[in-house]
Amino acid sequence: MGTIFRIVLYAPDPATAAKASRAAFDRIQELDNIMSDYKPGSELRQLCGKAGGPPVKVSEDLFRVLAVAKEVSTRSDGAFDITVGPVVRLWRRARRRHELPDPERLAAARDLVGYEKVRLDPQARTVQLLKPGMMLDLGGIAKGDAADQALMVLKGFGVTRALVAAAGDIAVGDPPPHRAGWRIEIAPLEPGGRHLTRTTDNGERTASPTQNRFVPLHNAGISTSGDAEQHVEIEGVRYSHIIDPKTGMALTGRSSVTVVAPNGITADSYATAVSVLGPERGLKLIDSTPDAGALIMIGSGDTMHSFESRFPPMQPQ
Ligand code: AMP
Ligand code: MG
Repeated sequence: MGTIFRIVLYAPDPATAAKASRAAFDRIQELDNIMSDYKPGSELRQLCGKAGGPPVKVSEDLFRVLAVAKEVSTRSDGAFDITVGPVVRLWRRARRRHELPDPERLAAARDLVGYEKVRLDPQARTVQLLKPGMMLDLGGIAKGDAADQALMVLKGFGVTRALVAAAGDIAVGDPPPHRAGWRIEIAPLEPGGRHLTRTTDNGERTASPTQNRFVPLHNAGISTSGDAEQHVEIEGVRYSHIIDPKTGMALTGRSSVTVVAPNGITADSYATAVSVLGPERGLKLIDSTPDAGALIMIGSGDTMHSFESRFPPMQPQ
């Protein structure tokens, strides 16, 4: 998945810690072998190779992720869409070459995008990709899912006090001993930058000093999507690795979206969706999602404006 997974856990003894974490990392490896769009032999790549053909039987793991992806696509009106694969591929090339994708190729790639072109049959556990050339990209959802799955493996060893982090996608179980939660820090957009306004749930707008936010969390997922680490500047414009599926264009401008949700797969996919939707539509979506909350930071120059809703959401102690 192109990132480093980190596990922090509390166990009764070192042997249990070693055994449990080994099994959790093995599970992550297994999921990577399924979901990767880089590995030619991955189940995902094999499925895409059969695009345009009849329905294909897939593993429970792949089906689980595709089913959540479809739901998030529907709920976000297509802002989140794993069929962006062909467009993502063009933008990856653009990043390497520092030149914008060719408009004709971009238009052709866009024709292959659309979550309604993915047919899921839960009974038969099959997937049908309706157009040849379609490519699925699970980069916006698979890390959160893998973090959830790793936590579940740890639980099987009796290890419930654990945190699994894949860069900006984190899932946490029970809190550390004698603590109310894991303390997750959210970095500001620009270290040392100015934070100008903060708009909270009720639309209240206040001047805001720059400060890092700390979120105490247990049994939840938290994900940050943004262009801090992955972006390219072409002709003075900063392009993100997140694509607006409606236009095929990479998002521009600096933003960071953090979503808290009951699990990692939800937090991961909604953070990507809200990045595309922007503050107004994004927070509406979050407000209609049970037990979810979001913090959106938008940068302009060396200043930042933030928007939030239920951030962090209330959690039972
Ligand atoms: P994240 O870092 O979780 O926001 O995911 C970003 C990654 O998801 C990108 O690197 C792409 O692989 C993929 N992606 C880009 N745009 C979208 C989108 N609109 N919907 C779903 N996945 C996307
Ligand atoms: Mg994501």
